[in-house]
Amino acid sequence: MVVFECVACGAALTVPVARVDFPDHAHHSVGNGVRGMPDLVGPGTYAARPGEIAVAPGDVRGVSWIPGRLEGDCCGVTGRDGPNLACACGREVATRVSDCSLWSVVWLEPAAVRAAGRPEPVTDWAELDWRSPLPAEGDEWWHDRMGIAAGVALAGVLACAGETHVVAAAGPVADTFGRLLDAWLPPVAPVRTLAVAGPGLAAAADVLLVPRHPHTGEVWPVDGTVVPIGAELWRWLARDGEQPVIPPTGGRWERFLRDDPLPRRPEQVTVNLSVAHRVLRFGDVRLS
Ligand SMILES: [Zn+2]
Repeated sequence: MVVFECVACGAALTVPVARVDFPDHAHHSVGNGVRGMPDLVGPGTYAARPGEIAVAPGDVRGVSWIPGRLEGDCCGVTGRDGPNLACACGREVATRVSDCSLWSVVWLEPAAVRAAGRPEPVTDWAELDWRSPLPAEGDEWWHDRMGIAAGVALAGVLACAGETHVVAAAGPVADTFGRLLDAWLPPVAPVRTLAVAGPGLAAAADVLLVPRHPHTGEVWPVDGTVVPIGAELWRWLARDGEQPVIPPTGGRWERFLRDDPLPRRPEQVTVNLSVAHRVLRFGDVRLS
C-alpha cells in the first residue's frame, strides 16, 4: 500500500491505500439533486489514471479548507474554482467534491502529491475471486453504477461497430444491449457478433466484452476486438447464475428486508443512455 505525501513538505495526506481500477462512473452524476451520495472509491483504496487520483474523503489527513474555494450548487462543494484543500504547509493539494448528485470523493492534485511506500503485489488474474457475493448486501447504488458502466460499454460497442450491425449473444448480454443495438445500428450486413469473455469464459465473437483487472485496470488479454468493462459489470454479464444480494429494484427499509427477503439477482441492468451519448460525443471510449 502507499501513502500520498505532500511534495512540498513531505506530510502524509492519506492513510495507506491500495490501488483499484478507475471506476466508469467517476465523472457521471446520478439523477437530479440526489443527496447523500456514496464515496466514489472504497475506504483504504485509491483510483488513478493520467492526471487524476481519487481517494475516499475519510482517508485524507492533514488538510484544511482553502477560503474562497468552497463553491458548489445547493448541498456542498464541487471544486469548480480549483483545489479547495491545502496541506498544513500551505500547498494546494486536493479537491473535495461532496455536492448533490456527485460521487463523494477527494481528487488529489497529481503535481502536488507523491506516492510513498511499496505498492502491493498485483494479484494474478487466476487468483482473483470472481465468485464471492457481490455487491455487499444493501448496496442501493448498484443499479446506478451498473447503468453507467453499461452506458460506457454500449458506447464502446457502437464505436467498434462502425457501419455494421451487431447481434448480442443470448442471455444477459442480449438482455442488456440487444434492443439498443437493434435501435442504434443499421439493420444491414455485415453482421458482427457480441459476447462476453474473460477468466474461465472463452467466447468466439467478433466483439468481446472483457473485464478490466479490478485492481490495476489492465485489460483481460485476448486476441480480437474487445471492449473493456469494469469487473463488477463483467461479473453480472458473465455469471448468469450468480446471485448478488441486493434488491431487484430500488431500496427498502432495512427492517423490511429482514422480514421479507427479496429476489437476490436483479433481473436486468438498465443502460444509462445519457452516459452512452456523452461518451460517444466526447470520445472518451477506452478500447484496446
Ligand atoms: Zn505540505
